[in-house]
Amino acid sequence: MLVSIIVPCYNEAAVLPLFLDAVRETAAELTASYGCTWEYLFVDDGSRDGTLAFLREAAKEDSQVRYLSFSRNFGKEAAMYAGLQRARGEYVVLMDADLQHPPALLGEMYAALESGEYDCAAARRQSRKGEPPIRSFFARGFYRLINRISDTEIVDGACDYRMMRRKMVEAVLSLREVNRFSKGIFSWVGFRTKWIPYENVERAAGETKWSFWGLVLYSVQGIVGFSTVPLALAAVLGILICGVSFVVILYIIAKTLLFGDPVGGWPSMACMVMFMGGVQLFFIGILGEYLAKTYLEVKRRPIYVLAEEGGEPEAS
Ligand code: UDP
Ligand code: MG
Repeated sequence: MLVSIIVPCYNEAAVLPLFLDAVRETAAELTASYGCTWEYLFVDDGSRDGTLAFLREAAKEDSQVRYLSFSRNFGKEAAMYAGLQRARGEYVVLMDADLQHPPALLGEMYAALESGEYDCAAARRQSRKGEPPIRSFFARGFYRLINRISDTEIVDGACDYRMMRRKMVEAVLSLREVNRFSKGIFSWVGFRTKWIPYENVERAAGETKWSFWGLVLYSVQGIVGFSTVPLALAAVLGILICGVSFVVILYIIAKTLLFGDPVGGWPSMACMVMFMGGVQLFFIGILGEYLAKTYLEVKRRPIYVLAEEGGEPEAS
């Protein structure tokens, strides 16, 4: 039984040696108890530090190590996709390079899949300890919102760290969208998933690639990718405002008929015009967001561009 471990790496030279040591140790234990074999598939996502150099060396020394290298930074989603495409194992693991995904969970994941009861075992962060409170606040809000407006369940705290059976990998790969939002994709394809709770760990070395703004854009991508409710919102609000204006019109007609028509009321007029302008621009923006995503999808650009591939050549 071959297990592939896919590791997206972007500027992770500082942590990769630690990562390999830690994972190898756990893998050796599992090999001892289950007899499975391993391949490590690193995806260098256009790193600018020594990541690629390290991977070349590692692949030379260890036949279990393979790597892909992108021509530039395409993002973690693209890196995971490329890894899933090339992984050869019957079981496939997705794992961050920074050791925030504890290798110790691999045993439990493997056992879950071996039992035949599950097709996927995924880690789930139990708490948001160690995260800036403002980030937790927005993250919670995001999960509440997206689960209300999307049919696909997006599990709070679910990470990309998971072990999947081959048939689930094939299903994930069959979703060929360019705007990839894994949390949604994994849930969309279904399959029986075992959630393994774990406590958040600080990254072992190097630094996070996520800025607050980056997370905001990512959440917008998630909403646009897995819900069309925002598009319907304009219609709902439109009907509401029509209703309100109808009442106001009746009121103004009645007032004019009863008390004549004294000139005045331009401030309220200006407020209404500005309010409606704002509402309309907001919804044009939402429309634009979906249009832009559609535009990017129909171009059918590849999800990544490979610059280099190394390690043991593809067996075929
Ligand atoms: N990563 C990547 N491409 C990117 C950003 C990140 O491949 O453009 C990888 C990164 O090397 C790491 C994983 O994705 O292995 C998670 O990144 P990070 O630790 O920065 O995110 P966080 O854990 O803070 O969510
Ligand atoms: Mg991390």
